[in-house]
Amino acid sequence: MLEKELKEIYELCVNCRLCLKECEFLKSLFETRDSIIVDLEAEGANNKTLYSCTMCDLCETICPSELNIGRAYLKLRQQKGPLPVQKKFIDKDQEWVLSDNFALALPDPDSSECQRVFFPGCHLVGYSADLVMKTYEHLKAKLPGTAILLGCCGASRRECGDDALFKETADNVEAEVKKLGASEIIVACPNCRYAFTEHERSLKIRSIYEVLDEIELPEMASNGERTFTVHDPCRARWQDEMQDAARNLISKAGHKIEEMRYSRDLTMCCGLGGQIPYANAPLSKTMAKLRAEQAEVDIVTYCASCRDALAPHKPTLHVLDLIFNPDWDEARTKPAEKPSEKREHQSALRAQLLEKFGG
Ligand code: SF4
Ligand code: SF4
Repeated sequence: MLEKELKEIYELCVNCRLCLKECEFLKSLFETRDSIIVDLEAEGANNKTLYSCTMCDLCETICPSELNIGRAYLKLRQQKGPLPVQKKFIDKDQEWVLSDNFALALPDPDSSECQRVFFPGCHLVGYSADLVMKTYEHLKAKLPGTAILLGCCGASRRECGDDALFKETADNVEAEVKKLGASEIIVACPNCRYAFTEHERSLKIRSIYEVLDEIELPEMASNGERTFTVHDPCRARWQDEMQDAARNLISKAGHKIEEMRYSRDLTMCCGLGGQIPYANAPLSKTMAKLRAEQAEVDIVTYCASCRDALAPHKPTLHVLDLIFNPDWDEARTKPAEKPSEKREHQSALRAQLLEKFGG
């Protein structure tokens, strides 16, 4: 079943062990390169190995032969499907975010032509409906003809191997964008960006950070110059434009940046990638703690899930807090919301958008 992947490993792996040294998942479950091969040959000997990879792609970046162990595990997950516990929670979550509790497509009521669609994704809205509303209002003012689409890209389906449902979910988003009359989607979550590029699409895809970096920003709410470090989400690996734009926004907000050793293309996962909390919660928690401890100053990131994973261990902000949240200083230590609270934010934003722009 993994003939191609195993053939590549046999031919190209030089047994340098760099992947075992740098990847927390491999380090925690394997002692040698050969034991990884044995596990892949056994098609993931147990659910722990098969479902503990965060799909972060770090292995490909550090491997001298650009081998990606995570892609091999993803292929096995696609063959075996999600764990029952993953399926149960993801089904429930998808049912909510794709229903009228959250999903919404609204054109810009002040413009006759729809040029682009802002797609904040579900996690950022769960983190702060207020940040998303302010971001959208700013976009609409500076770039007339911007619609907003609330929904989900289906990335969680992809990560646990349910590729058919993942594609269907992402296809539906593309169809909604086209129905609104646009050919460009502006995403806030690096996972959404990754999800929309996995299959061929006729959409221009940009991140909100690149767009904000190009337009005039609102007057910055700043409590004085600080020094932050940047946690690049693993789905922003190899996305130079998004990585640069996030840093430019921090600088434009008047702050300094002190880079971590593992940043940009070498970034490490916050512990939530690959849906691993369902299969290996201790590893997920260890990864979040380890990543946060690599930061010597407070962290700024540009993924709401990463923000929530790192915040219990180190004060952490979403970069949009620095631009649109006048109380960002207090937000640094805000605990992650419970799932029920996130759902309240999602429904509240939908109601506010309908009231303000629904006509
Ligand atoms: S980093 Fe690449 S070459 Fe080195 S042991 Fe891992 S798979 Fe083999
Ligand atoms: S994708 Fe990430 S977690 Fe998975 S093997 Fe590669 S480095 Fe490790």
